[in-house]
Amino acid sequence: MPLTVITGAASGIGAATRLALHAAGHAVIGVDLRDAEVSADLSTAQGRAAAADALLTRCGGRLDHLVLCAGLGPHVEPASRVLAVNYFGAVQLLDALLPALRGGNQPSAVVVSSVASTQLDWDRNPLATVLDAGDEAAAQAVLQAAGERAGQLAYAASKNALTVAVRRRAAAWGAAGVRLNSVAPGAVETPLLQAGLADPRYGPAIESFKAPIPRRARSAEIAAVIAFLLGPQASYVHGAQLLVDGGVDAAARPTRF
Ligand code: NAD
Repeated sequence: MPLTVITGAASGIGAATRLALHAAGHAVIGVDLRDAEVSADLSTAQGRAAAADALLTRCGGRLDHLVLCAGLGPHVEPASRVLAVNYFGAVQLLDALLPALRGGNQPSAVVVSSVASTQLDWDRNPLATVLDAGDEAAAQAVLQAAGERAGQLAYAASKNALTVAVRRRAAAWGAAGVRLNSVAPGAVETPLLQAGLADPRYGPAIESFKAPIPRRARSAEIAAVIAFLLGPQASYVHGAQLLVDGGVDAAARPTRF
């Protein structure tokens, strides 16, 4: 039975992924603030370290799959918390769990980024340098200078940096025998999206965001792609970002891919 860790397993896409993987015969260790096998706050360095220690103990140093779903939307304040969970919470667990994945059976990992990752070029990502340096304090200063744009910047910049982090690991993870990919959803009906819709600063923009497939995704539709990327049918897919956005990116940037 494959052993899989899922962060953000208590809600939305993470919960749907847990259901899909259970149905496919996986044993799942969920990580979340609550309602999970491992309770941890991935917004702090101590919380991430404690989560990694607990996971390595629970899996006995051998893990088959990892899915990083935990994340916060642009409406969450302070914006530094968005960056802390979406970027640092993901990359620190990726790196901490690679040794266990190396010992797994056909091991693989999927990181949940966002179509928002394509809204910024890395060369124009104002947080690129400080995120590369792993400097959370400097990142906080950049966000403070962004004023009322801080939430949107934290979200798009964290997802842009997360996708870059996955792509930059392709060589080392390939050599280690562990496949690593990202999924970039568009708007998905989850509590995160509902909270954004309810926020007067972001609601109207989210409401007017129309995909070529004229509806929002269901969590199960993202979970199905995550399950595919984790499994043997995706055995030569590595370092890729799979957009699951109903055609948003293709419509917005048909000549850039
Ligand atoms: P959600 O709010 O339903 O689930 C997110 C989960 O992450 C929650 O269970 C929450 O408790 C957990 N989490 C948040 N902060 C945490 C912390 N500090 N420590 C541990 N766990 C924490 O949201 P969702 O929409 O399912 O989001 C899942 C992922 O999908 C996120 O990374 C999000 O950015 C991404 N995403 C969502 C959408 C969308 O429209 N819903 C679109 C693109 C990308």
